[in-house]
Amino acid sequence: MPELPEVEVTRRGIAPHLEQQRVTGVVFRREGLRWPFPARLAQLLKNRVVQSTGRRGKYLLIHFEHGSLIVHLGMSGHLRILPAHHLPEKHDHFDLELGESVMRLTDPRRFGAVLWHHSKDGAVEEHPLLLSLGVEPLTTTQLGELLHQATRSRSAAIKQVLLAGDIVVGVGNIYACESLFEAGIHPNTAARRIALARYQRLADAIQRILARAIEKGGRTLRDFIGADGQAGYYQQEYFVYDREGESCRVCDAVIRRITQGQRSTFYCPHCQR
Ligand SMILES: [Zn+2]
Repeated sequence: MPELPEVEVTRRGIAPHLEQQRVTGVVFRREGLRWPFPARLAQLLKNRVVQSTGRRGKYLLIHFEHGSLIVHLGMSGHLRILPAHHLPEKHDHFDLELGESVMRLTDPRRFGAVLWHHSKDGAVEEHPLLLSLGVEPLTTTQLGELLHQATRSRSAAIKQVLLAGDIVVGVGNIYACESLFEAGIHPNTAARRIALARYQRLADAIQRILARAIEKGGRTLRDFIGADGQAGYYQQEYFVYDREGESCRVCDAVIRRITQGQRSTFYCPHCQR
């Protein structure tokens, strides 16, 4: 599943091909994905110029003067920039045509989304899907203080609180496991019992791990253009994630797996208390 780093790498990949470019057409090859595609999007966007690109959580934002296109990659989606004459394949559901090139959304499992938010309805951050998102992990200063303050009455496990995304977005399963390991926090610890200093370590770990993943993905950007190019889906070496039964890279203890909220959590029983 594309996580925040993959979405940010995608944004950086498409940005130079979109920004200041004029939309020449919009193609939908089905009624919708997770939700119906916006009606009349072709009329809304034709001959309009992309002003900038952005991201909020895992939502990609393509800003125009009169509104923003919101794109979510769902479980399996990816975006590519292709030559306009490149023939669509089975799972290619949406094209944003930009003269000689096209931004194409491929989504085999169809949990993705393409939505339009008109500027007359306010800032795009006020869209119902974006309104209740937690803060951005990479651009929030004093994230540790914020996590500490927001969890004083949360008795749920810290891993669950991170995944909920209502305090901070973008800490998906892999990054929650890895950042709790780096911060030395047991994933089952009640969020309200974690002291400020430990939250500061956790915030540092979250920011470091996400930044590293984006940087690593950024190095694959040259593959972004072309029929077979898929940005951002790169192998990483993890400390605990998906390593049940293997030995900890720090202390040699055996990595354990538990289930929390139907998701697997991996941790080191010695390094994480
Ligand atoms: Zn260990």
